[in-house]
Amino acid sequence: MATHAEQLTATTTTAARPAVQLRELTRSFDGRKVLDGVDLDIPAGQFVALLGHSGSGKSTLLRAVAGLDHEVVGSGRLTAPARVSVVFQDSRLLPWRRVLDNVLLGAEGRAAAAKGREALAEVGLKGRERAWPNELSGGEAQRAALARSLVREPELLLADEPFGALDALTRIRMHALLRQLWERHRPSVLLVTHDVDEAIVLADRVLVLEQGRIGLDLAIDRPHPRSYRDPLLGEYRERLLAALGVTADHQ
Ligand code: ADP
Ligand code: MG
Repeated sequence: MATHAEQLTATTTTAARPAVQLRELTRSFDGRKVLDGVDLDIPAGQFVALLGHSGSGKSTLLRAVAGLDHEVVGSGRLTAPARVSVVFQDSRLLPWRRVLDNVLLGAEGRAAAAKGREALAEVGLKGRERAWPNELSGGEAQRAALARSLVREPELLLADEPFGALDALTRIRMHALLRQLWERHRPSVLLVTHDVDEAIVLADRVLVLEQGRIGLDLAIDRPHPRSYRDPLLGEYRERLLAALGVTADHQ
């Protein structure tokens, strides 16, 4: 058995090595810098939200971290875990595959199928394994997308406005589900959103991307589950809105 000192060292080592590390990450399109030397560390298991105006470069940053942007290589330093899952605003389910087959995406065998069923049950889709994607509501399709990301047991979950197309009530349910899944599996999460309330109700740390850099890095130190009505969240909301350049006159 490990001694207490050894355990401490192991814990410290894990905590000291961030899951995501960006140094001076830069990305230009047609000579225009969208990311201008982004520095960011995300510790393993942290739930982070990234806010920013439309066009500020949120998706560009997420795509780089996801390894989907091959041209960003060499523009700085980027470290990310090996197992990364990405969820987008639309579920991207393949219409010609049933829900379970979408979740499995190529993985075969009984063990994989069992894992897929388990993931579907976790997101509240037990019994819908054989449904076609076009038989699902928008919220159900996003649940299926979350199940598909879960079966890969990601160390890092990247989500690009995953609830942006959902109605307000469905969105609130999905917030609770995402937080629950995070508590059970503890991946690092980078959630891109333009919704300040979504960021502060879900994340333990909120970043604001402005002019190609992280302009504000705010720890949200409130217990979960959080209520939009918590007056202390109001203070965080004010700070984030101010960083986004939204003043009381604009609201
Ligand atoms: P956000 O997700 O914050 O709304 P994006 O990261 O999608 O912003 O885009 C940031 C800027 O980069 C925008 O001006 C967008 O037009 C530009 N951009 C993004 N991807 C490309 C691309 N593949 N080619 C040219 N310009 C792009
Ligand atoms: Mg975007």
